[in-house]
Amino acid sequence: MSLPLEYEVTLPSGAKFNQPAGLFINNEFVESINKKTIESVNPSTGEINGSVYAAESEDVDVAVAAARTAFKLWRKSTGVERGNLLFKMVALMEQELELLSDIEAWDSGKPRDSNAYGDVAECINVFKYYAGWADKIQGKVIYQDPKKLAYTVHEPYGVCAQIIPWNYPMLMAAWKLAPALAAGNCVVLKSSEITPLSILYFATLFKRAGFPPGVVNIISGYGATAGKAMAGHLDVDKVAFTGSTATGRLVQQLATSNLKAVTLECGGKSPLVVRADADLDQAVKWAAIGIMSNMGQICTSTSRIYVHEDVYESFLEKFAAHVTAEYQQGDMFQDNVVVGPQVSQMQFDKIMKYIDIGKSEGARVVLGGEANPSAGKGFFIKPTVFADVKPSFRIVKEEIFGPVVAVGKFSTDEEALELANSTEYGLGAAIFTKDLVKAHQFAADLQAGQIWINSSNDSDVHIPFGGTKMSGVGRELGEYGLQMYTETKAVHVNLGSVL
Ligand code: NAD
Repeated sequence: MSLPLEYEVTLPSGAKFNQPAGLFINNEFVESINKKTIESVNPSTGEINGSVYAAESEDVDVAVAAARTAFKLWRKSTGVERGNLLFKMVALMEQELELLSDIEAWDSGKPRDSNAYGDVAECINVFKYYAGWADKIQGKVIYQDPKKLAYTVHEPYGVCAQIIPWNYPMLMAAWKLAPALAAGNCVVLKSSEITPLSILYFATLFKRAGFPPGVVNIISGYGATAGKAMAGHLDVDKVAFTGSTATGRLVQQLATSNLKAVTLECGGKSPLVVRADADLDQAVKWAAIGIMSNMGQICTSTSRIYVHEDVYESFLEKFAAHVTAEYQQGDMFQDNVVVGPQVSQMQFDKIMKYIDIGKSEGARVVLGGEANPSAGKGFFIKPTVFADVKPSFRIVKEEIFGPVVAVGKFSTDEEALELANSTEYGLGAAIFTKDLVKAHQFAADLQAGQIWINSSNDSDVHIPFGGTKMSGVGRELGEYGLQMYTETKAVHVNLGSVL
C-alpha cells in the first residue's frame, strides 16, 4: 500500500494540520520513484510520528532537472522581485509561527515554548534579512585606464544542493534557502532523515508565496543515497552542507566530480575559558546556555570549560546549582520545560556511551551522569557535568553532541590558551574576564570562526557564522553568507578604438 501524499495530524498541543509526505518538486508533492519511505520517531515517546517518501538518486535527478529548468527564467528575475517573494515568505511564516513551532517541537524533541518557537522566530528574521539584501547585490566598476572600463557582476551559481542536519531542522534550512534565493539561485534541499516533517510543511509556504515551480525543491532522504547523489551530481553548481565533520569530508570529495563550489559547516568541540577575574555568575549563566541549550545538540556548544584554579571549585558549585534550578527536563509540550529528549535512540546511545567513557576515564561526576526515564519513555538524558578532566580524555577530545560538559582547571593564561586550542575543531570559543586587554588578546589567539567575550553561543543573523580547521569551509549569515551564493563575473570593455 503506498503512502498518502498528506495525512491529517492532531498534535499534542491540540493543533490540527495536514502533514505533507511527498517530495516537494516543481511546487507539487510527489511520490518517490521507488516508493521508499522514512519513519519519523517522536523523541519524547519513541513512537512513530509518521512516514514520508524518501528520495533516492533517481528522484534527485528529477529535482535537479526541475531546478535547472526553473533557473532559465529565475536567473532573469530582478532583485526587487526576489525580495518581494522572500518578504511574502516572512508574512506567511509570521501567520504560521505557532503551528510551525508545534511541528518543529513534535518532530525534533525541542521544548515547544522555550526552544522551537524561538527557532522559528529566528527563521523569520533570516528571511527578512535576506529579503532586504535581494535588490542590493552589486558589483564594482573598475576604471584604471582611459582606454578600458571593467565591471563585475555578482551572478548566482545556478542550481544549489543544500544538505542539512536534524538539530535545527527549520533554522538550518532558513540559513541556506534565504541567501541562495536572494542571490537568484534555484535550490534542491534535503532534510535530515531524522527530522523530515516540519520542513515539508514549510515547503508549502513557497508555493503560497508565489515562487515559480522548480525554484525551491525540498526532499526527504537518507544521506548515503539522496545526499550522496546531490553532492556528486554533475548538474549541481554548488553544494552547501551542515552536519558532522566525517560527512563533510565525504561531501567535499563527492563535489570534485564537477569541481562544484562547496561550503561546509561541520562539528565542533568549543572551549569556554573562565579567568579568575571573571564575573562568575555571568560565566555560570552563559556556560549553561552554551552546553545545555537544545539538549547540547549544537555544533558550537561550549562543551569544554577551563576554569582558573582560584575559582574552580566555586564555579563548579554555582554551575551545578544553576543547571539544577533552571534546566527543567520533560516532554517538549510540557510547560516550563527547558531540556527535552535527545533527538533519537542512536544519539541517546552514543551520548550514554560517552558518559560511561567519562566515568571510566576517571572524570568526577558533578551532576547527572545518567538517563532520565522519569522524564518520559523517550530519549532523556540528565544534564551532565564532568570535572577534573585531562586533555587526553576522549570526552575532552571528541564531539559528544549532548548535554554533557567536561570541566578542567588551569593556572596561567598561556596554559588556558594551549588547552583551548588543542583540538582539531575551530568553530567557537568563549573567554570570560573583566580585563578588556586580556579579552582581546584571547580573541586574537583563540583559533575559531567566532569568539564570544563574556557570552557563549550568541548567534545573530547580521554576523557571519562558520568554522576554521576541521569545523568547516565558508560562512553563513550576514553579508558574508550571501557572498557564498554568488560568483563574480568580470566584464572588460575596450574603449581604445573610439579614442
Ligand atoms: P550527519 O553528518 O550525519 O548528517 C548531516 C546531513 O548529511 C544529513 O542530511 C544526512 O542525511 C546527510 N548525509 C549523511 N551521509 C551523507 C553522504 N554520504 N553524502 C551526503 N550527505 C550525507 O550529521 P547529523 O548527525 O545530522 O548532525 C550532527 C552534526 O552536525 C554534528 O557533528 C554537528 O556538530 C554538526 N552541525 C554543524 C553545524 C555548523 O553550523 N557547523 C550546525 C549544526 C550541526
